[in-house]
Amino acid sequence: MDEDVKKLKQRLPLLDYLRQQHWTARPAGHGSEFVGLCPLHPETRPSFYVNASKNLFYCHGCGQGGDLLRFVQLSRHLSFRQSLAYLQQQSAPPADPAAVLEQAAIFYQQQLDRYPEALHYLKQRGLHDPASIQDLRIGYAPGASLRRHLTAKGYSLDLLRRLGLLNPQGCDTFYRRVVFPCCQGGRIVNFYGRSIGAAFAHRFLPGSRGGLYAWEQVRQCPEVILVEGLFDYAVLWQAGFRHLTCSLGTYLNTSQFRQLCDRRRTVYLTFDVDANGSGQQASQRLAYRLQAHGIATRRVLLPEGHDPNSFFVQGGDARQFQSLLEVAQP
Ligand SMILES: [Zn+2]
Repeated sequence: MDEDVKKLKQRLPLLDYLRQQHWTARPAGHGSEFVGLCPLHPETRPSFYVNASKNLFYCHGCGQGGDLLRFVQLSRHLSFRQSLAYLQQQSAPPADPAAVLEQAAIFYQQQLDRYPEALHYLKQRGLHDPASIQDLRIGYAPGASLRRHLTAKGYSLDLLRRLGLLNPQGCDTFYRRVVFPCCQGGRIVNFYGRSIGAAFAHRFLPGSRGGLYAWEQVRQCPEVILVEGLFDYAVLWQAGFRHLTCSLGTYLNTSQFRQLCDRRRTVYLTFDVDANGSGQQASQRLAYRLQAHGIATRRVLLPEGHDPNSFFVQGGDARQFQSLLEVAQP
């Protein structure tokens, strides 16, 4: 509660609030002091002072003084709680989903360095380069903290629930997950959260995931490497490969498929080579579909039991991966 009040007062300074209420004032000598007619009692000579740097008011006429919340209580005849709710509504930022997701991404990024278990997990998955982690805006959702952060910024629980950042019970949806933002047209549309604990491994927010991951960056490339998972993407990015995209699973949806076919290009299909062959079957099926649309395909054959992520984790390097690309089968 104290923290909420503190953040609210930072977000909506007393002087700004008074001016929104059409209070007019003139500087009262010192830089941060202002004086005007008291909104709380009738008067003809100004005796209501606001100290903008202290964020406090005092009226020499009626003797009332205090902070923004006190002012709202007095002027609107509300309780403390009602005043807080009123001001939170007054100062709520516009409910633009992309702006909220952007705030969530910044928050997740800030958490990453505070949780050694998250950095340890990234290291285990072969990600150790801080610049690459920064490039991809990888973050960490510890759970039970995003809600507080975003509501203190003025976003309503209802909006956060609608975006899926909070579950229907009002708790953080992502709990102990490494988080990747998924963008479309330069705006975040979803998050992928990889559990580092016992929970189900892969999770997205409800709603669209956008098309192919980071497609805007590669759509002009005549050759594109397609991987199925974001950790595959991340290790290849770290190894210096840039003509990369990710389908977030082996099945491409209609818009992803359309993106791959929007010009002549060669697609290097780099799906998992798992023991039951399902990754390779998916890869084969996709190759036929793409070829039917005039797209050249190459199937990159990783060693048995590997995906690009495990290939790099177990010591593979950029040069070795490059040779796999060169011998990839049409
Ligand atoms: Zn007064």
